Amino acid sequence: KDRSPRYKRILLKLSGEALAGEEGFGIDPAVLDSMSLEIGQLVGIGVQVGLVIGGGNLFRGAALQAAGLDRVAGDHMGMLATVMNGLALRDALERSNIRTRLMSAIPMSGVVEHYDHRHAIRYLKNGEVVIFCAGTGNPFFTTDSAACLRGIEINADVVLKATKVDGVYDSDPVKNPAAIKYDRLTYDDVLASKLGVMDLTAICLCQDHNMPLRVFNMNKKGALLKLMLGGSEGTLVEA
Ligand code: UDP
Repeated sequence: KDRSPRYKRILLKLSGEALAGEEGFGIDPAVLDSMSLEIGQLVGIGVQVGLVIGGGNLFRGAALQAAGLDRVAGDHMGMLATVMNGLALRDALERSNIRTRLMSAIPMSGVVEHYDHRHAIRYLKNGEVVIFCAGTGNPFFTTDSAACLRGIEINADVVLKATKVDGVYDSDPVKNPAAIKYDRLTYDDVLASKLGVMDLTAICLCQDHNMPLRVFNMNKKGALLKLMLGGSEGTLVEA
């Protein structure tokens, strides 16, 4: 059986919540360790891995605004939260002996490298995992949009969005046990039906640049590796 990966380079989007574990807030080191293991398996079979990390486990601009803060200040706090998550994730990856770079859209001399497209490509080719943090660097965007943007920039074969459910459903599978999962959707399906896969900015970006997107359940151990070896877990969104 052919064990060579079907993707050469991927962009994996991890939400901040994915790092929070059972608590729902903050960073759970045990979760980071198991994530590092799964990411290490990909590096082990020669996949180049770019990561975009969210910040929702710490701060979200929209929630801070609802609590009375200025939206731009809130979004800046949200982006800084992704830098903290990135530092924790890099630490966990490096403890697992996975060479990792952390690049921030917002320069933060002495703490993280500033994002540079050509450097990022060089690191990836070198077999290093590259974590992209601070989102796009701009307020009013999300880390989903950042994931699609970076995925397109680094010429990834696919953008993978890790979620807690098995893919995209016609209704919320947590609330509705009869919800039906889609195996495949077009960008237009997603845009028309507001299925809540990702925000519309992110979907439009993928559509404009023909970047395939797969939503899958990362809580299932080995799901990521299976995808690399030809599995079809989750929902694929493409043209
Ligand atoms: N954010 C932003 N610009 C970006 C990316 C993120 O302003 O390009 C802010 C925004 O406030 C967002 C927060 O950072 O709520 C955390 O990101 P996100 O909500 O996407 O994280 P996730 O839901 O993936 O954990």
